[in-house]
Amino acid sequence: METLKLSIWQLRELYKKKEVKPSEVVMSLIEEIYKKDKEIHSYLYINEKAIEQAKKVDEKIAKSENLRELEGIPISIKDNICTKEIPTTCASKILQNFIPPYDATVIERLKNAGAIIIGKTNMDEFAFGSSTENSAFGPTKNPFDLNRVPGGSSGGSTASVASNLCFASLGSDTGGSIRQPSAFCGVVGMKPTYGRVSRYGLVAFASSLDQIGPITKNVRDNTILLKIISGKDKKDSTSVNIEVPDYEKHLGEEIKNLKIGVPKEYFIEGIDREIKEKIFKVLKLLEKEGAIIEEITLPHTSYGIATYYIIATAEASSNLARFDGVKYGYRSKNYKNLFEMYTKTRGEGFGEEVKRRIILGTYVLSSGYYEAYYLKAQKVRTLIKKDFELAFEKVDVIITPTTPELPFKIGEKKDDPLKMYLSDIFTVNVNLSGLPAINIPIGFSLNKLPIGLQIIGNFFKEEEILKVGYVIEKNIKEEKYE
Ligand code: GLN
Repeated sequence: METLKLSIWQLRELYKKKEVKPSEVVMSLIEEIYKKDKEIHSYLYINEKAIEQAKKVDEKIAKSENLRELEGIPISIKDNICTKEIPTTCASKILQNFIPPYDATVIERLKNAGAIIIGKTNMDEFAFGSSTENSAFGPTKNPFDLNRVPGGSSGGSTASVASNLCFASLGSDTGGSIRQPSAFCGVVGMKPTYGRVSRYGLVAFASSLDQIGPITKNVRDNTILLKIISGKDKKDSTSVNIEVPDYEKHLGEEIKNLKIGVPKEYFIEGIDREIKEKIFKVLKLLEKEGAIIEEITLPHTSYGIATYYIIATAEASSNLARFDGVKYGYRSKNYKNLFEMYTKTRGEGFGEEVKRRIILGTYVLSSGYYEAYYLKAQKVRTLIKKDFELAFEKVDVIITPTTPELPFKIGEKKDDPLKMYLSDIFTVNVNLSGLPAINIPIGFSLNKLPIGLQIIGNFFKEEEILKVGYVIEKNIKEEKYE
């Protein structure tokens, strides 16, 4: 069905004109998922109740009632975001049978806008990873090359959007998990400013870094979803009470005299030549549109990965203490006493990468090492953030590659965690600083793999990065670029 390729706003128009029924769209979508997703494996759960919900929207349309913003639009959700009466597993054996009794705030907001939850998407277990290979239920494949990874940890979400198996998705980003897989799958993925979107109902990974964000086929759809999920939530004290702009209205604005910083530390040796070349082409194009390109420096960039993996694992080890066989999901069958119940449950329930991170996190927090690692990392984090603050005194947005390389082969890095951790080299500092950033697809490599570019904005300036992203997207579509 060609309709499945449409964007949110196009589908909305068709509904309004009564040219297609939501139930037809949902049914053909589910059929398509059963067919195509056997290979891609972007979904862990398909919500068949979606058909009933869509039929109710059919009736509304038949009666010419007003439609809400996302009425009848099927959206997939990363499986670490709680959905009432729909399993939420974090792609972990330990939560295999967990069905939340409540919706995350972002889900509540999507539902209030009329969206239909079509299913839950695959991910690295507890969002630990950059390839979706760490799922306890098997990896997701990159729709552009089934031998390659879709990126991670929101690889199921980005693959489902890229292969038109939903109209948009929500992911989570702690160190790059929305942007990196968006780059690998050629879709638009936004990590909003820390505090912009409520995390109530997101299974916590690293609480000082986690953000939920929209993954979409294009920039306009991204603005639509972002507006709906953003804003203060009294259930999440880290969400901020700052007015949410109408992001869509900023699309199409000129970028004349907009200052774009290009940090030299992001174009170092080792980055893929094709990615670099494509980004420079885009910068030229933006210059033609009137933007001013300036080289900048973010001197503490190279400390990002080490800092991130200390802070993220420390917080994760603490957050994951709650999975003890008592409150949620899996409990071991063979134990002699309470202590063994805990250790066996966690030993059997968690995968290898999860255990590695719990051990690492516990180590950096332990007395004796706390000051040398955790405290030091917090200090470096401040330096990294200050780099950005200084840069934003001079420029409006910053452009970098999203990833240093093209999608890699399945299995290529699985047994070398350090190599895998380097996939996040261009994304983690954004989380450490709390800034917003977006991946914009900018074409393909010679072997037809997607390439992405990252736009980083100042705090709560999502509209700026969306606006620039829209200019890039438009030029690429009109082929002013190649
Ligand atoms: N890939 C990074 C990690 O493994 C980021 C994960 C994320 O953003 N959830 O920690």
